[in-house]
Amino acid sequence: MTGLAMDILSKIKKANLVGRGGAGFPTAKKWSSVAKALEDKEAGEGKSYVVCNASEGEPGVMKDGYILEHYADRVIDGIKIAIDFLLAEKGYLFLNHSYYKKLNKTLTPFLKDSKIEIFIKPINAGYIGGEESAILNAIEGRRIEPRLKPPFPTAKGLWGYPTLINNVETFYNVSLAASGDYKNKRFYTITGDCPFEGVYELPDNLIIEKLLNQTKNYPKFPFFAVVGGSASGEALNSSQLKRQVSGAGSIAIYSLAKNNFKKAIKSWLDFFVNESCGQCTPCREGVYRLQEIFMKEKIDWPMFNSLLDNLSDTSICALGSSVATTMKSFIKNVHPRINEKN
Ligand code: SF4
Repeated sequence: MTGLAMDILSKIKKANLVGRGGAGFPTAKKWSSVAKALEDKEAGEGKSYVVCNASEGEPGVMKDGYILEHYADRVIDGIKIAIDFLLAEKGYLFLNHSYYKKLNKTLTPFLKDSKIEIFIKPINAGYIGGEESAILNAIEGRRIEPRLKPPFPTAKGLWGYPTLINNVETFYNVSLAASGDYKNKRFYTITGDCPFEGVYELPDNLIIEKLLNQTKNYPKFPFFAVVGGSASGEALNSSQLKRQVSGAGSIAIYSLAKNNFKKAIKSWLDFFVNESCGQCTPCREGVYRLQEIFMKEKIDWPMFNSLLDNLSDTSICALGSSVATTMKSFIKNVHPRINEKN
């Protein structure tokens, strides 16, 4: 590793950067894994790639679009730093098609004379088109679905070469860490039944309750929140908000008066039925069966819960396992309260 590469890696480590796409994986660890995979390759096979994931397809999460709109120079700088770190062949900005329409003119000047190319996320790629290995398939022109892991993209990514994939916010933070401007902040998306929906840049250790108060979004009515992703996050009741925001940093507020349990669960099931890529049976059949059971007048809860367990244990990718996260947390944390209220 060159002196410059060691220097940026130590800055990323010192800033304690973690991935902001949802998984929260330590950034320095990921960068080191790709560098290690490159070292292990036979001489002459030392190609690598960098991908910035700007696909952002989950409802209620819009921070990456906001960051690209306001800080495109920082994001592109972060990607360039990663390319230099790996001496990579090329970088791809895998961009949500609606962001491309809106931001193409903003982004183009920053890409001039760089190794970075915009790859527009296909319009039919859906939510799963933002999963990191599905992105690799999209760029390679294959069917857009997650790959079985291992091997992980860090070792075997684009065209079989080590590939570093990070989220927009992560590259933004890399740029800040490199120039000594990183201030332990993160971006939060607050949506739903609240007066000031939007994206906020605030300290990364704020608890949810404080975040809602500070942004004047704390509801004055009975509510629950889905945290970390509005379809794939964790549902919490109002007494559970003294914790930090997980995942992609989103908080969706639901008024209990407007959202009975039928409406809430149905909307999540509809989302997952639409977004399942159909590659693996537990998810393809499972979400469909969950919807079928749920729409009956008498719900078979033991069967419903058993299917949720099956989805979280056996699905190929995080979409299948996250179905259980939302539903189970909702049934445990929020559903009893709705029953009390009724
Ligand atoms: S869990 Fe669902 S989205 Fe993921 S690979 Fe299987 S079918 Fe596709």
